[in-house]
Amino acid sequence: MLLRHTPTGLSERKALTINPAKTCQPIGAMYAALGLRNCMPHSHGSQGCCAYHRSSLTRHYNDPIMSTTSSFSEGSSVFGGQANILESFTNIFSLYNPDIIAVNTTCLSEVIGDDLVQIIKKAAEDKKIPEGKTVIHANTPSFKGSHVTGYANMAAAMVKYFAKNTGKCNGKITLIPSFIEPSDMSEMKHIASEMGIKYIMYPDTSGVVNGPMDGHFRMYPKGGCPKESVVASGDSKAAIAIGRFGAMSATRLLDTQCKVPVHAVDLPIGITATDIFVDMLRKIAGVSVPESIRLERGQLVDVLCDMCQYTYGKKVSLLGDPDILLPMVQFCKDAGMEVLHVLTGTPPGKVKLEERIRELYGDKVIVKAGLLCDMFMFQQLVQENKPDLIMGNTYCKYMCRDLDIPLLRIGFPIYDRIGQSYVPMVGYRGGMHLLLKILNIFMDRQDRDAEEENVELIM
Ligand code: SF4
Repeated sequence: MLLRHTPTGLSERKALTINPAKTCQPIGAMYAALGLRNCMPHSHGSQGCCAYHRSSLTRHYNDPIMSTTSSFSEGSSVFGGQANILESFTNIFSLYNPDIIAVNTTCLSEVIGDDLVQIIKKAAEDKKIPEGKTVIHANTPSFKGSHVTGYANMAAAMVKYFAKNTGKCNGKITLIPSFIEPSDMSEMKHIASEMGIKYIMYPDTSGVVNGPMDGHFRMYPKGGCPKESVVASGDSKAAIAIGRFGAMSATRLLDTQCKVPVHAVDLPIGITATDIFVDMLRKIAGVSVPESIRLERGQLVDVLCDMCQYTYGKKVSLLGDPDILLPMVQFCKDAGMEVLHVLTGTPPGKVKLEERIRELYGDKVIVKAGLLCDMFMFQQLVQENKPDLIMGNTYCKYMCRDLDIPLLRIGFPIYDRIGQSYVPMVGYRGGMHLLLKILNIFMDRQDRDAEEENVELIM
C-alpha cells in the first residue's frame, strides 16, 4: 500500500537510498565460506550482524546455516575485537571442530580498524589454532559494494590462503563461479563431467545448503570443496571466472600468485552464454562436445522456437546482480523479448554492464547501476513504462502486486518461494527451466485475461 505513494518519474537524489537493491557484503562472504568443506563462517562484529546474515541465508535456502560471531560488546566496539575473536577461536575449535574458520569482517570491525592479518598471526603464535587447522579471512566492509563483493572477497581469500604452485601442472581446470545457487554449481559440474573434463570448483555450496534430509544432523554437510583441492588449484592448467564480477578477483589472484592462465565468461544462463561457456571448456580442455550436451542444447532450442510467439515482443524489466543480469538480458534477446529497464544496487566496477546491455538493445533500454539505484528507483521506472514481466528478487513482489505485473523470481534473496537451490537456471537444462517458467507466466496471464470466448484448450 505504501508503495502507491511512490511518485512517477525519476526523483533527483544525491545521498539517499530507499529500499536498497542489494544486501550486505558479509552475507556473500558467509555464503562463499560455506562452499569450503568443513568450514565454519565467522562474523567478526556484533551478534546482530551475524543474526541478520544467517537468517537471510537460512530463509533463502530453507536450511539451517551455521556461523559464529565475535559478539562485540560496547567495550570491543571502542577498544577493538581482538580479545573476543581470540576467545572465539578457542571456543569454535573445541566446540565445533571445523577444519577451517573463515572470518568475515563487518562495518563495525572495519570502522574500528581491526587488523585481521595481525590477529590471525597472534592466534597462531598463541597456539589458538590447532595443528592442521586454518583460519582465513576476508575484509567485507558493508558500506562498500554488496553481497556479491563480499562473495568475491571471500573467494579471493581462499586463493590467497591456500592455492600453491608446485611447478607440476595437474591438468585440471579450476572453475570459480560467481554468487549463484548450489543447483547452478551442480549444473556446471554436470557439463564439465559430461565433457570428460577434470576440474576443481570453489566455492562449491552444492550439497551444503541444499543437502538431503537423511535423519542425521551434520554441522558440516558432505559437500563443499576440500581444502586440498583449493591448494591444488595453484597447479591447474587454466582457471575460468564464471561471472566476472563475483569471480574475477579470485582468478586474477590465481594468476599473480600461481601463474595459472585465467579466462572469464558470463554465467552460462540461456543459450548464448552457455554456448560460450561450453566452447571455452572445449577449447581449453581440447575435447569435443558430447552428444548428451548437444541433446540438452537441441531441446532448449526446440522449445524456444516452438513457443517464440509467447515471448516475442514481450516487455521485461530486470533487477538483480550484474553477473546474473548480463546473461539474462542476452537470454531475453534470444527469446525475442524487449528489455525496458535493468537495475542493480551493486556497483558494477570494471564490468561493462551498461555498455554490454546497450550493444544488445541500443539506447532504448534504461540501465541503472550503483549504490543509489534502489527498489524505489526501480518502481519509478516501472511505473512510467510498464513491462509485461519483472525479473528480480522477492522484494519486487510488492510493486508487482500493486501494479499487477507478474514476477519471475531470480537472484538473491528469494524468501517466499522454494526450488531455486534445487533447480538450476544455468546450462541448457537450466535454460529450459527458466524458459518454461517464463512461458507459464505468460500463458497463465493469457488464460486469466482472455475473454471467455477466447479461452483456448490448446495454446
Ligand atoms: S550493513 Fe554492516 S552493520 Fe548492517 S548487518 Fe551488514 S555488516 Fe552489519
